[in-house]
Amino acid sequence: MRVKPTYYPCPGCGSVMVYSPSKGKLSCQYCGSEEEIEISKEIKNFDIEEIISKDVSPRATQKEVQCPKCGAHYSFEEYQVSTLCKYCQTPAITDFNNPIKPTAIAPFKIEQKEAHDIFAKWIGSLWLAPNELKHVVDTKKKLTGFYLPYWLFDANTKSYYTGERGEAYYVTVERRRVIDGKEQIVQEQERRIRWYPVSGVVSRDFKDVSISASEVIPFSLLQSLRARYSEVLVGLNKKFFSGFDTREYTINPQVSYERAKSLMQDVIRIDVLNDIGGDEQRIHSIDTDYFDEKYKHTLFPIWSTKFKYKGKEYYYAIDGLSGEIVGERPYSYWKVTLLVISIVAFILMIVYWDQIVAYFQGH
Ligand SMILES: [Zn+2]
Ligand SMILES: [Zn+2]
Repeated sequence: MRVKPTYYPCPGCGSVMVYSPSKGKLSCQYCGSEEEIEISKEIKNFDIEEIISKDVSPRATQKEVQCPKCGAHYSFEEYQVSTLCKYCQTPAITDFNNPIKPTAIAPFKIEQKEAHDIFAKWIGSLWLAPNELKHVVDTKKKLTGFYLPYWLFDANTKSYYTGERGEAYYVTVERRRVIDGKEQIVQEQERRIRWYPVSGVVSRDFKDVSISASEVIPFSLLQSLRARYSEVLVGLNKKFFSGFDTREYTINPQVSYERAKSLMQDVIRIDVLNDIGGDEQRIHSIDTDYFDEKYKHTLFPIWSTKFKYKGKEYYYAIDGLSGEIVGERPYSYWKVTLLVISIVAFILMIVYWDQIVAYFQGH
């Protein structure tokens, strides 16, 4: 499918402007002209109910564009909305194709150069990494600035639980012990638990529980960055895409909402344990009602690339707002082995300390 890309020509020299994270504006790399990007702080939430039973699954496209600067024809990757010309790096922006379009975006704050330094430092600091890794990884390799889709969910919850509260008490018991080579009967305190049946209700309101909607980078990495800075979201404006690689969702909101509910359940479990109180707790059942379930579809900025080490690919991702880095990494077989050996030796030394001391005293 041939599409005409959108781009933002410089009012000064006519070349294509890109979004500058440090300036927060469109900026021309050739003549230095700048242009403000109008933003709206109003971010709307939508009812989950409206989409939960609809088919909003991702729709792949084959987009072909012609570069406005060098005239080359090239194709976009599936689910790609904006990218750079493969030949001259000129930005090209197209339309979203999936049934649900993002309505909010967190614009990049961290520049590529800064992300680069964070990565180089991280590679250098990896504990138990193979020594040659620092030389193998091309820290000069360009990072890609992605705007990646996340679903953000709100829900108010009320959970009915049943369980048991354990209260500790101590009893005196008699035990046989060998003391100074002689068997003796001694009295010892032993902890016991008395269990009482309990039931109750806990309530908690969740806001902006975020779930990655893309797999362009491994899901676990994107999920660990969690897109947690929802306060910086602004209304979607495509000018922020200029110079960046924007993606559509490949994981639909229904699947993502189930994942969000499972994260909510982890928090509710802790609430229930606290509510039960006592010295120990047992949970038999939790039954949660969800109210005011809302979602918003958003884009978050992530710098990323991958490196190859011994035939395997490792990805890493840097939060384009905070600079936090998460990554996959290789371990050195020998460094890990040596560490395990020294830990085992240390434990053995503690366990046999008396014998070791006795051995040296006897000599
Ligand atoms: Zn210009
Ligand atoms: Zn081009």
